[in-house]
Amino acid sequence: MGLLEDLKSIFYSRKLTCSVCRRENFSDRTVCDECFATLPFNGESICGHCGRATPYPAEYCDYCKNKESFIDLARSVYDYEQPIKGLIHRFKYDGEKYLAEEFALEMNKIFTKSMGFVDCVAFVPSTDKKLKERGYNQSRVLAEEFSKLTEIPLIDAVQKIKETESQVGLSVKERKENLKGCFKVVEKAEVKGKTVLIVDDVMTTGSTLETLAEKLKKAGAIKVLALTVASVSFNKNKGEEQGEKTPKTEKMNENL
Ligand SMILES: [Zn+2]
Ligand SMILES: [Zn+2]
Repeated sequence: MGLLEDLKSIFYSRKLTCSVCRRENFSDRTVCDECFATLPFNGESICGHCGRATPYPAEYCDYCKNKESFIDLARSVYDYEQPIKGLIHRFKYDGEKYLAEEFALEMNKIFTKSMGFVDCVAFVPSTDKKLKERGYNQSRVLAEEFSKLTEIPLIDAVQKIKETESQVGLSVKERKENLKGCFKVVEKAEVKGKTVLIVDDVMTTGSTLETLAEKLKKAGAIKVLALTVASVSFNKNKGEEQGEKTPKTEKMNENL
């Protein structure tokens, strides 16, 4: 990361300006009170399994119905809409790592309310090449912040051993194929017999999290939960998108 990004991160992290509207901020968080009220928080109308926003509360959404999952429970703080989309984009691509603090704070609220107990926190690893390009792994930054806040130990047990193609425009099946063999659990002892929480920024189709969860379970994890800042909902406006089998995808989520 360059000097400019570092300075930007330091400047914004002082919370003097709102990270959404950039106006003077009088709240004690990175988002001003006015903008905070506009954030697309997930409420009661979610899928009981994957946590995506749904038209009405449901045990399983259309996406989870009749689908095998290696993730026992997933929750996300926000529906992936503006202004959260913009914030996550800046967190991920513009070096605004300080946003992890705000995200972790809200993630912890959902965690306490809906999940309760895990042995350790894991992140979605990236390849060395990707890490060099971006300077940091946003999933790791989030997991570190979450671990710091909750004092739940962070584990670094998985490696990404294969670079994956962009996931844009791929069907769920193609995404699965694309992700095949990309993760390797290198520290099996860290996950064996454990309940593991994977922390990440956005859950789009969930293919990446599923692939990782499958690996963790094969390495002996008893339960795998997933907690993301946001999740892409679909079929939210019932009727409109009915019959759609995959959630809408966005260019900025190309690596998910
Ligand atoms: Zn604001
Ligand atoms: Zn669901």
